[in-house]
Amino acid sequence: MTGLKISELIENNEDWIKEKLKTDKNYFTKLSKGQNPRYLMISCSDSRVPLNSMLKAEPGEIFIHRNIANQINMTDINFLSVLEYSIEHLFIKHIIVVGHYSCGGIAAAVDGVDQGLVENWITPVNDIYNKHNEELSKIKDTQKRMDRLSEINVLEQAKNLIKIPIYQRALKRKKYPMLHAWIFDIYTGKIIQQDLCFNEFIQNGLLPEDYVSYFEDNLL
Ligand SMILES: [Zn+2]
Repeated sequence: MTGLKISELIENNEDWIKEKLKTDKNYFTKLSKGQNPRYLMISCSDSRVPLNSMLKAEPGEIFIHRNIANQINMTDINFLSVLEYSIEHLFIKHIIVVGHYSCGGIAAAVDGVDQGLVENWITPVNDIYNKHNEELSKIKDTQKRMDRLSEINVLEQAKNLIKIPIYQRALKRKKYPMLHAWIFDIYTGKIIQQDLCFNEFIQNGLLPEDYVSYFEDNLL
């Protein structure tokens, strides 16, 4: 789609520096002092999901972990390090799992196409597909079925995160970060917030009773 050459990327970088310095001549001096992001986002690696630019967020505002089909896996040391660091050292207030429509990882998980290691990575998506087969099999249009699976996947990944001890410990100590699940609607550019149904987790003791009201009261 873009086809930018390396030389063009370097030129773009020079333009970007000029733009930033035009608005604030100390921009990079300030940026170098450290980060204070309020958000951790776990997103798909897909190049069409430009987190910072689609949210008009500046450098320093979003701490990001990306992998194919935005998986949250309790044995993924890379992800767990990001999670722990963002909670314990950056004191992020919100964790947002960001999936998207037209996700190649989601489609590959269902099609069972031989894609090497990716096939292993997205096995959990295939399990989710089977678990929700009754609902999904009613959707005859293939793309719509895959897009619904993207929605279910983002909810299931967020639910995986609730159970991770690092997150459970943080909730007991300070009641945040708050969890969210989003879908980036690639057909329109819109973010669609998914309903995480926290009540289920409150009832089984995985989330505190005032989980939602605490955030509303404190506007974190
Ligand atoms: Zn994707």
